[in-house]
Amino acid sequence: MPLLPCVAFKRDTNPKKMNLGVGAYRDDQGKPFVLDCVRKAEALISSKQLDKEYLAIGGLGDFTKSCAQLALGADSEVLKSGRNITVQTISGTGSLRIGANFLSRFHSASRDVYLPTPSWGNHTPIFRDAGMQLKAYRYYDPSTCGFDFKGTLDDISKMPERSVILLHACAHNPTGVDPKPEQWKEIADLVKKRDLLVFFDMAYQGFASGDIDRDAWAVRHFIEQGHNIVLSQSFAKNMGLYGERVGGLTLVCKDAEEAKRVESQLKILIRPIYSNPPMNGARIAATILNTTELYNIWLEEVHCMANRIIKMREQLAANLKSEGSTHNWEHVTDQIGMFCFTGLKPDQVERLTKEFSVYMTKDGRISMAGVTSGNVGYLAHGIHAVTNY
Ligand code: PMP
Repeated sequence: MPLLPCVAFKRDTNPKKMNLGVGAYRDDQGKPFVLDCVRKAEALISSKQLDKEYLAIGGLGDFTKSCAQLALGADSEVLKSGRNITVQTISGTGSLRIGANFLSRFHSASRDVYLPTPSWGNHTPIFRDAGMQLKAYRYYDPSTCGFDFKGTLDDISKMPERSVILLHACAHNPTGVDPKPEQWKEIADLVKKRDLLVFFDMAYQGFASGDIDRDAWAVRHFIEQGHNIVLSQSFAKNMGLYGERVGGLTLVCKDAEEAKRVESQLKILIRPIYSNPPMNGARIAATILNTTELYNIWLEEVHCMANRIIKMREQLAANLKSEGSTHNWEHVTDQIGMFCFTGLKPDQVERLTKEFSVYMTKDGRISMAGVTSGNVGYLAHGIHAVTNY
């Protein structure tokens, strides 16, 4: 049996080996990165000698309030009128699953959920195990390594009314391909015409462009256009809180009264699954979001992480060119966020692993976060070697 990629990587003795399969940020030395604002928040929390009692079923109030505010914007009409319910979840995965469970139980109009092709691998089992029917819409165009706008619109126009459509809010995983604002506007209009229910997965707010508000643009636009969305948020990437499991699930309702009813049903759903969410990560995130000094440090750090990734994309494209590659690598710099869908074929991926000890997923996706100034040249050399024919 072939070794699992992570085991094969560990056993590989090539000093130049690269692990580009992992979906976690690394600094320019290739090391895991704990944000300074997180360290400072931890110190602040520790100095308060807080207790460790259970949280409420819906989580820490200071966290859920600022979590919703981060996504929807401080002056959001939805927040002002109290027509949202936001619960703390076990990171983005837990948020998607609780949201999927809720829809499976209460969205009686349709059990169909449409995922982009391709989508994050875990979306399928999350929605399937929650009892939803999985459907697909065209999203990525392999011929351009870009967005299949026409295919997306065509497929949306054929979706049965009231179906659920899953949209990646920014930094689409695995392709790194996002619609432009003008394209989002057309998508929002068509989705409205079809009367679809939008489930936004926002796992990378701030990580795509380095700007929190810019990355939330699509979510806010849909809400402004009258879509009562479901929204999943994760703080794994943008605060580097991977193992702390911090996330939020928001349902935008028609009014505050409906939000209250949804809240009580969400609690009934959550209670038999994990009773109440863990406290530590939510305290860290809430402290950062509610302390001006830490919040400003965080904004800078998010910007820095996003910029390092953007820089690595530019250097990879430049190095491919100086290696002599004549292929069009524009998609490397056009794509957004942590992942780059290289367009490499499975046999090229295999050669890259065998001959150069570069590990990645079989679909040709590399995590740009694993690329550093020290190894970007070697990566370009390897990619050129397996694509140069
Ligand atoms: N959605 C997408 C698109 C993701 O890429 C991820 C993380 N890989 C998640 C959700 C959830 O991650 P987590 O549960 O760690 O927050």
